[in-house]
Amino acid sequence: MIIILRPNTDKNSDEYRETLRYLHNLPNILIREHQEIGVQQILTELYLIGETSAITSEEIALLPGVERVVRVSEEYRILGRHKDETRSSHFEYNGVLFSQNNFNVFAGLCAVDTREHIDLMMRALQANQQVCTRMGAYKPRTSPYAFQGHGKSCLPDVFELAGKYGIKIVAMEITHESHIHEIDEALSNTGHPTGVMLQIGTRNTQNFELLKIAGRQQKYPVLLKRGFGITLEESLNAAEYLASEGNRRVIFCLRGMKTSASDPHRNFVDFAHVPTIKRLTRMPVCIDPSHSVGSRAQSPDGIMDIMHVTAQGIIAGANMVLADFHPAPEKALVDGPQALLIKELPRFLEDIAIAREAYEKRVALFAQPL
Ligand code: PEP
Ligand code: MN
Repeated sequence: MIIILRPNTDKNSDEYRETLRYLHNLPNILIREHQEIGVQQILTELYLIGETSAITSEEIALLPGVERVVRVSEEYRILGRHKDETRSSHFEYNGVLFSQNNFNVFAGLCAVDTREHIDLMMRALQANQQVCTRMGAYKPRTSPYAFQGHGKSCLPDVFELAGKYGIKIVAMEITHESHIHEIDEALSNTGHPTGVMLQIGTRNTQNFELLKIAGRQQKYPVLLKRGFGITLEESLNAAEYLASEGNRRVIFCLRGMKTSASDPHRNFVDFAHVPTIKRLTRMPVCIDPSHSVGSRAQSPDGIMDIMHVTAQGIIAGANMVLADFHPAPEKALVDGPQALLIKELPRFLEDIAIAREAYEKRVALFAQPL
């Protein structure tokens, strides 16, 4: 059960104390408090965990300071969209809004290689009014002999150049707790010129210890990739791990499923699940067309498969796209064959705008009474 208190309820107020006293007297109930500090107001939510079946929503709603009571189903308690759920799912990070109702693009390098390539990429993003990017410093690779990413040594370049080009958020995969500390340190040493969204890759979707660590910190939002060989329910539970540890600024990313049935695509494109996730949870949904398709293959209509699946995900309501670009894909150390070229960025964005507009028209159409 979730108890939502009136905005700006003071923890020292009599009403807050009285409500807490009542709740603490309930048998076999654990109370977990969560505060959402927004620009205009502070929202306090109290999570009752345990034998809540013995309590009625009506009795709790009568307690002082209580605005609303939501009885949650067992699944995805925090991130789930429960019955009669109207709570908003948005969050803002470093001036960028994330929600199930808007849209952001994160185009960038799969793996950071040279300073020159970071510079070329970010310069192009700024020229195209983009404020977010992806930059892989820590790369989980199938072969231990493959390039593992430059790690912390490339962070100063990434953050400095992000600041130079007005990039507000860099999505960056982490595979170990130490990477968060390295990011902290590099951001601090460079004077916090940008923000970071921690990415948890498909190979780590069920690395529960990493999830708990990323969930316990509140500094950075998390982009969680769907596990490529597990059920959707299992991946959504992984997202719930992050939230249950305290970090609800979670974006869920579809990136295709591993099966030879996907051939010739690298993974089986699963963007039909965009609306499903929006229905089951309140998380913004991201799509990764690059790792789904895995190549620059193009159909006879002159449109690349990557562009086609991007449009398919967006027309179904995706809230974010994560895409690999590279100034010189033949020189890329990771995933060159699926990288889009810098000169293709304007058209990619234009195609996205077409698909997003079509989605918005569809929403308006279905909002009309029959
Ligand atoms: C990536 O985005 O660089 C990546 C490795 O993705 P995934 O975890 O989906 O394979
Ligand atoms: Mn990659």
